[in-house]
This record gives sequence, structure tokens and C-alpha cells, in this order.
Amino acid sequence: MTDSLVFCPDPHRRVVAVPAFDDNYLWLVLSPDHRRAAVVDPGDAQAIETALASRGLTLNAILLTHHHRDHAGGVLALKARWSCPVYGPQGERIEGVDHPLDEGDRVSLAPLDLQLRVIAVPGHTRGHIAYFAEQLDDGDSPALFCGDTLFAGGCGRLFEGTPAQMLDSLSRLSALPDATRVYCAHEYTLANLRFAAAVDPENAALQARLAQAQARRARGEPTVPGEMAAERATNPFLRTHLPALRAAAARHLGRAPADASECFGAIRDWKNQFR
Ligand code: ZN
Ligand code: FE
Repeated sequence: MTDSLVFCPDPHRRVVAVPAFDDNYLWLVLSPDHRRAAVVDPGDAQAIETALASRGLTLNAILLTHHHRDHAGGVLALKARWSCPVYGPQGERIEGVDHPLDEGDRVSLAPLDLQLRVIAVPGHTRGHIAYFAEQLDDGDSPALFCGDTLFAGGCGRLFEGTPAQMLDSLSRLSALPDATRVYCAHEYTLANLRFAAAVDPENAALQARLAQAQARRARGEPTVPGEMAAERATNPFLRTHLPALRAAAARHLGRAPADASECFGAIRDWKNQFR
């Protein structure tokens, strides 16, 4: 297992992480000349204003993945200040959204030279969407902004959806190209990988990723973004079809899971109880 599969430094100079609250990442996507920006999931308007001002950026668009306050709480203040369009999930009522989006929709932000495809990923919330960019610069790797659906080494809790819905959503994200950078919305990686190591103890790639994530956190660095190949190799919620994870689900249930979604649901339930 090469190190590059486990962690790749972020090659997208157009993406900037804005930390907020305890463990959120709000993402700015810059125009190629680094003068304009779109923001994904601005839970905290002030954190975004500070980041824009420090870089001399104007805000041209707001993109939302789902309705939770730590993702959408800054929308109205930012919209009032910048008069920019607000994109968000059609299936959720979020104040300020004027461009509702659903599966397969495309967002084309010409001033930012940014094209995104919408992927519907219900499970964490009923209408949750993700945004996928084939590339941000010529020859670049793809980028995925997936909110609270897929995390580095884990996945979001099922607040409004079923295990079957979340499994389907994650399967579709898992089919994206290996090199896709996964811009999730929280720094949950260490807790996720510790749980992953408990349910998938023979996975050497996972042990290597955990060690690297621990080293990065010890240096105060983010572990996000990871890349999709590493998620497929180490994230238990993308691996519930494999014998090791089915065996883990059986340990939790006390019997073999009846089907894929029961297996997924058992692993998700175990994570909720894991300390
Ligand atoms: Zn959420
Ligand atoms: Fe969140």
C-alpha cells in the first residue's frame, strides 16, 4: 500500500478550508485568478467574511448541501451582504435558497469558471445533495463537496433517512473516480478511523491511514480532503459488501445480516454506540 493512496496533499489551490465551530470545515472555491469565490455550507457568516476580507475576495455564490444550522446558518447574512445566488437541495426548505437543485442538475458559475454536477444523497437528511466537479484546473483531479454524507473514514448519522437510502447514496459516491478529493464538512477523521479499526481490524491500509491521520492532527493539520481511493480502501461504510464487514455486522447483531442494508445499518448503529 503506497502512502499516496492513504493521503494525498490537496492539489487544488482553488479550494480553501475555513474552520468554524468545533470541527466544521466551510469550503471556499476560488476563481482561477483568486479574486472571486463560492462558498459551500457557510454555517458561520462571520468566519466566511473574515476569510474573504483577508484574501480580498468577493462572494459570487452560496452552495448548500443540507439544512442543518452548522451548514446553512450564515446564508441570510451573506446573501444580504453580497446579493449572490443561493443554491440548495430542492427537497428541503431552507430560507434564502433561490436555486433549488436535484439529482443530475448542473450548476455553471461562469464568473468562477466552475461547473458542478448535483448528486442526490439522501440519508443524513431527506434532501441532502453533493456537488461534484470533474476538475477545477486543467489536468486536475475531480472534487466532491459532500457535506455530512461521506466523511474521511466514516459517514453521517441517519437523522432523516434509512440505512438503505444512505447505503445507496454512499455507493454512488464510491463510484466516482479514484483521484476524487473528498471535501467533507467535519474533522471527524480520527474518531472515524478508530471505529473503522475496531470493525475491520485486519485492514493494513486502514492502520496506515490511521497512523497518518494521527500524525497530521498532532501537527494541527487537517486530514481533509482525502481521496476516494483511500475511502474505498479504508472506510467501513463503503465496504459493507465485503466479508470482513459482514462478519463485523454479524458480531454486532448476534446473527448474520439478512441483506446489504441490514449489514450497513448494523455497522452504523455500532458506530453510534462506539466510544
Ligand atoms: Zn448535518
Ligand atoms: Fe454538520
